[in-house]
Amino acid sequence: MKSARETFDVAVIGGGSAGLAAAVTAARQGARTLLIERHGYLGGMGTASLVHSFCGLYLLRDEPGAVLANPGFASEMAERMIAATGIGPVRMGRVDVLPQHPVEFVRIADELISAEPMIELRLHSEVTSISRESDWNIGISGRSGAQSLTARALVDASGDATAAAMLGLDSAMVDAPRLQRPAYVFGVHRPGGLLGDSERLETAGLITEGIREGCVPRDAMGLTFRSSGRDSEIFGTLDLSGGENYDPFDARCLTQLEILGRSIAAKTVAWLAGKSVIWNGSYVSQWPVRAGVRESRRWIGEYVLTGSDLLAGNRFEDEVALATWPMEFRETARGPKLRFPKENQPAGIPLRCLKPVGMDGLFVAGRCISADHEAQASIRVMGTCFATGEAAGRAAASFRHP
Ligand SMILES: Cc1cc2nc3c(=O)[nH]c(=O)nc-3n(C[C@H](O)[C@H](O)[C@H](O)COP(=O)(O)OP(=O)(O)OC[C@H]3O[C@@H](n4cnc5c(N)ncnc54)[C@H](O)[C@@H]3O)c2cc1C
Repeated sequence: MKSARETFDVAVIGGGSAGLAAAVTAARQGARTLLIERHGYLGGMGTASLVHSFCGLYLLRDEPGAVLANPGFASEMAERMIAATGIGPVRMGRVDVLPQHPVEFVRIADELISAEPMIELRLHSEVTSISRESDWNIGISGRSGAQSLTARALVDASGDATAAAMLGLDSAMVDAPRLQRPAYVFGVHRPGGLLGDSERLETAGLITEGIREGCVPRDAMGLTFRSSGRDSEIFGTLDLSGGENYDPFDARCLTQLEILGRSIAAKTVAWLAGKSVIWNGSYVSQWPVRAGVRESRRWIGEYVLTGSDLLAGNRFEDEVALATWPMEFRETARGPKLRFPKENQPAGIPLRCLKPVGMDGLFVAGRCISADHEAQASIRVMGTCFATGEAAGRAAASFRHP
């Protein structure tokens, strides 16, 4: 006899920025919601990969003063983060960003989930299969072994369009070398904390000297350091070349990236600490759980948001969120290339970008929504992921059992 499977209204795959927003929103709508995450905490790239600022929260403006673009969950996260860190939005060139601390992000996510009795969170659990009868069947594997659950609606917030692959549906992905480059972010203990302008210059010179002397790997050239907002703690960010055969789904390739990232970070920080009083007493204090992946598979939805939509600031009748971040291309070793929309206009993200073609009861959120390679270079940022996550959670909750 078949044993009864646990049944939910909504199941969310992945607890990054988008999945957190989707699960909390669905639960707040009264849907019994299951949130499945393979790591031991929520936040995705914003915690496990130590990405430490929320971009895309604010409108693009020439005038000073940051103005939130998306009300609802994205604004709530901004408020909660500011309350946790005591740090408000910071103007960087033409954009406003909110520094965020991954430790606080994890804690805020725990708090949000604990406040929602309608959410069941399964950490250390990986979605391994998806199929459909009248409801969605979801296979999960984890510390409790293999389990099978059902849900009326599904949100794919995996970042990788995981459900598309499992359902054997078409998805989109550009090949290396066009794929946005991966990166490695790590924590550094540095007495004195953030570097001033002259110290940054001196550091760049020291890294160049280290490369010339063969003590520091060449890939350390673009290494940048930013404040974590905490005493004596900074983050280093190292863009990596995944090489011509970079494939974010190839475990061998990812293994090489992890080892390469750690090796470059360790050698560079040790070189700096031994070379200069400004780095005296510094050491790598934190590795990420995983190297950062900026781009992988994207869903093909009822509408594919394009780079031209973003440049023109196009708006849509069924829009559910605003994309405000300039398209940020990280395809080459020459650093980021930004493309801004006409007159700073935000573009709308239609609900159709969150709805895979012909799939009733399935929604997508976050960096793998239906967008072309150019538009993904904007909508992947966490401020926008919160907003598409919220929209997907709301749409999925409408499928709840009466
Ligand atoms: C180096 C780097 C720097 C960046 N800089 C910034 C920045 O400054 N500001 C900014 O806003 N954005 C930045 N981004 C982009 C941003 O961090 C990500 O695009 C965003 O966090 C994606 O959110 P997401 O929820 O869509 O996916 P993710 O954060 O990737 O979350 C997906 C989650 O799903 C889980 N998952 C996947 N598959 C499964 C499965 N089968 N079963 C269970 N769980 C699963 C994963 O473990 C993960 O936790 C950067 C990205 C990188 C890599």
